[in-house]
Amino acid sequence: MDGLPSLNRLIRQLQRLPYLASKNVYRVSQYFLELSTAQREEFCRILLESCQSLRPCPICCAWSEVGSGCLFCDASTRDRSIICVVESWYDLQAIEHTGVYKGLYHVLGGVLSPLDGIGPNELLLDKLQSRVGSTVKEVVLALNQTPESDATAAFIARLLKVSDVLVTCLARGLPVGASLEYSDRLTLNKALLERRMF
Ligand SMILES: [Zn+2]
Repeated sequence: MDGLPSLNRLIRQLQRLPYLASKNVYRVSQYFLELSTAQREEFCRILLESCQSLRPCPICCAWSEVGSGCLFCDASTRDRSIICVVESWYDLQAIEHTGVYKGLYHVLGGVLSPLDGIGPNELLLDKLQSRVGSTVKEVVLALNQTPESDATAAFIARLLKVSDVLVTCLARGLPVGASLEYSDRLTLNKALLERRMF
């Protein structure tokens, strides 16, 4: 839009946001423009403060509050004999919402994708391997149902084969192509309880 450089700048920033459909960029810019100054300032303040206050846990890579320890690794109530491997923090949330899983996590932050330069190092698989010691009896691969996720799960299972740990995966029942994040709680609950040997 010629003559509106400030609006163009705002729209260009919004266009960089992943997951925001391009048709919604104008609506979101309208939303921000219509906020009161106080609301806009609060939004910016919370965004900045949240980014400063959250860090990936050095052990499981789930988000944790700076100075507060990890909700999972540092909780005495979690079962330390089992680690659930998930692709993302939002998949971790989906597992937590089932209420049936009480073990630890390892958040990969993606799946193997050599063309995009994502290898075992980027997914911190050495960290996962080092966690699988005498205390850990089972690793559940709770990855999404896509070809890339399947390949990643197979890679991790091979990697852990040398350790004396049971490697399981979620029961079939989740639709092909499904992401855990969008699975309904009952289906995910059943898939977790009926997990099988990988
Ligand atoms: Zn942790």
